[in-house]
Amino acid sequence: MKVVSVEAIPFSLPVRREFRWNGLQQGLGQFVLVKVTTDSGLAGYGEAVPLPDWGGDFGRRAGETRSTVISMVNSLFSPALLGRDPCALSEAIAAMEQVVVGHTYAKCAVEMALHDLWGKCIGQPLYRLLGGAVRDAVPIAHMVGLMEQDEAVAEAVGAVSDGVRALQIKGGEDGERDVALIRELRRRLGPGVLLRLDANQGYGTAKRALNILSTFPPGELDYIEQPVRGLDQMSAVRRELRIPVVADESCWTPRDALDVVQEKAADCISIYLAKAGGFRAANAVASIAQAAQLPCDVNGSIESGVGNAANVHFAISTPAVTLPAVIPVSAPAGQHPCRIGGNYFEDDIITKPFPFRDGKVFPPEGPGLGIEIDEHKLLKFRQ
Ligand SMILES: [Mg+2]
Repeated sequence: MKVVSVEAIPFSLPVRREFRWNGLQQGLGQFVLVKVTTDSGLAGYGEAVPLPDWGGDFGRRAGETRSTVISMVNSLFSPALLGRDPCALSEAIAAMEQVVVGHTYAKCAVEMALHDLWGKCIGQPLYRLLGGAVRDAVPIAHMVGLMEQDEAVAEAVGAVSDGVRALQIKGGEDGERDVALIRELRRRLGPGVLLRLDANQGYGTAKRALNILSTFPPGELDYIEQPVRGLDQMSAVRRELRIPVVADESCWTPRDALDVVQEKAADCISIYLAKAGGFRAANAVASIAQAAQLPCDVNGSIESGVGNAANVHFAISTPAVTLPAVIPVSAPAGQHPCRIGGNYFEDDIITKPFPFRDGKVFPPEGPGLGIEIDEHKLLKFRQ
C-alpha cells in the first residue's frame, strides 16, 4: 500500500458561545483537516487546530496558523510522503523531520492521519495499537472561559448538571477576580467537583502568583495551571505552594518534559498531541512524566471530532494520563448529549456523537480513529 495524496482542507465550526483565555487572539473552531489517501482506496484523517499566539515560554516554540499548516503539508510533507508505505510510521515521521524543524501542529495532523490509516489497515481501533486501553473512558474537565463572574458560574453549574465532575477555569488577567470566582464556585458546587484554575502565565512573577494563590484555604482550589512564564518562576511557585502546579505552556516536547522534571517546575504535565508533534512524541512526554511520578492530562485547543478522537484514544491507552482531560464531547448538530458540559460547537464534521456517560467520554467505535467524516458537513464548513 502506498500514499497517493496528502490534502490539507481548512474548515471552521460554529461555536456554542465565545470562549476566551489569557493571551488568546483568535476564536475557537478553526481547523485544518488532513486527508491521506492510499492506492488501495483507504483514507486516513488527522487535524490541526493551530494558534498563532501559542508559542510556549518566551516564544520558544513558534505559533502556527492555518496558512502555515497548509503550506507545510502541501509544499513539504506531501512530497516527502507520496509513494511511501503509510504504515511505516517511523520512516514517515523521520521523513517529515528531515524536511523541516518544528511545526509540530502540522506534523501532528499528518502523523494522526497515518495512525488512522494504520488502524484501518489492520481493522483495529487506535487505542489498541497504542498499547491497549488502561481505562474505558476519559473523565472530562469542562473549560470555563474568561467571562464575568455570573456568566462563569452559570457555565460551570450547567456543566456540572450535565454530569461533569471537573472544571478548568480560565483566569490570569485579574487575580482578585480569579480568587473570588473559585471561592463562589466551591461554595456552589461543594467538595465533589475538581476545580483547576488556568492562569495561562498571566500572574507574571512567582512572587505575584504566590500572593494571589496563597489566599486559597485548603480544599478550595485543586490545581493551578501555568501561573507564570518560565521554569525558574514555575519552580519558585511550586516550591512554596501546597496546591499542585500543572505545566502547560512550559511543556511541549519530550526535552521540555525532562527540563520540567529536572527543574522541579511542576507537579503535573498537560500533554497535547500537537505540542509534542504527534502520538509518538506525546507518548515520550508521558513516559518521562510517569518515570518522575507526575500525573498528566490530555488537553488541546478544543478539537473537532477528528482531533478529539485522537485525544480519547491516546488518553485511554496512556497510563500516566490520570487527570480529567480538557477535551470536548464531539457531536453533530442536534445530537449533543449535554447542554453545556464538553459542548463547545454547534455542529461537527463527524457522523455520530461520541458516547458520553457519568462525565466521561468514550472512544468512538471502529478501526483507526473510529470516526466517519460527513462529506456534506465538510463541504458546508470548508473555507
Ligand atoms: Mg492551559
